[in-house]
Amino acid sequence: MLRPIQGISSALANLAKARVSLDRINEILVQDEVIKNSPDAVTLSSFTDSIGFENVSFSYKADLVLKNVSFTIKKGQTIAIVGESGSGKSTLLDLIPRFHDPSNGKITIDGIDLRTIDINDIRELIGIVAQDSLLFNATILENIAFGDETPDIKRAITAAKNANAYDFITHLDGEFEYNVGDRGNKLSGGQKQRISIARAMYKNPEILLLDEATSALDTESERQVQLALDAIMKGKTSIVVAHRLSTIINADIIIVFKKGEIVESGSHHDLMSKKGEYARFCQLQGIGLEN
Ligand code: ADP
Ligand code: MG
Repeated sequence: MLRPIQGISSALANLAKARVSLDRINEILVQDEVIKNSPDAVTLSSFTDSIGFENVSFSYKADLVLKNVSFTIKKGQTIAIVGESGSGKSTLLDLIPRFHDPSNGKITIDGIDLRTIDINDIRELIGIVAQDSLLFNATILENIAFGDETPDIKRAITAAKNANAYDFITHLDGEFEYNVGDRGNKLSGGQKQRISIARAMYKNPEILLLDEATSALDTESERQVQLALDAIMKGKTSIVVAHRLSTIINADIIIVFKKGEIVESGSHHDLMSKKGEYARFCQLQGIGLEN
């Protein structure tokens, strides 16, 4: 009798597990796609003036992750966002390509609410190097030239060189034809990050969003990639989240975030003389006013 009884009890346990899984699957299936193109979306063929955040608040669930955030970034400027982990920096960047929409307030490009612009036009303008580099199960070339129907190998090579990725690519079996595996799992963290930087360089977009773009690199490749990033940021409009403050000292505006709110903003010089939150971060990283 013992064996069948054990069988029944383990079957019951499995059923309970299956039930939980089914609930989770249903949760995803019933969820509406939240971001939709408005039926009368306007096209946006260029970006000429500014990006604006107007009293933007956002929550994933109950708690507000961004609270009443307002700032303007003029075309050609670099804005740096600093703040403790969990303060909402990545969330803020995610709102620009409309991975989420604000719960309150609005974001504009050249004065036009993002929600009224064709989403493809917005994304066309933007290059992203995210905190977790998003690679696809495809070749190096396809990952770098992502979105381009006719990948240009010469341009991919230049991008890879500038992103300090060319050397390791040429050591892979098949080089630019090497398949990176599911989510890029056949590459190291630093290699994945350099591929996503190369992707941004290949696209050469008007607007760059860099979220701790060099955080997975060792000090030497970080220095080299930072030089390359400085080069592509020239003449572009960039929003940069930096873990190393020495890389953002020259930003036009530094915005300091705390629990989803802007607590300080200004140039490095302004904020250092204020001796507030930013000055404290700098002190922790051994950065003085003269840097
Ligand atoms: P930062 O980039 O400054 O570290 P994030 O924007 O990643 O901050 O996160 C801000 C807050 O939002 C954190 O409390 C985090 O746990 C929460 N959060 C981030 N992403 C999600 C998500 N997809 N769903 C629910 N909560 C999230
Ligand atoms: Mg983040």
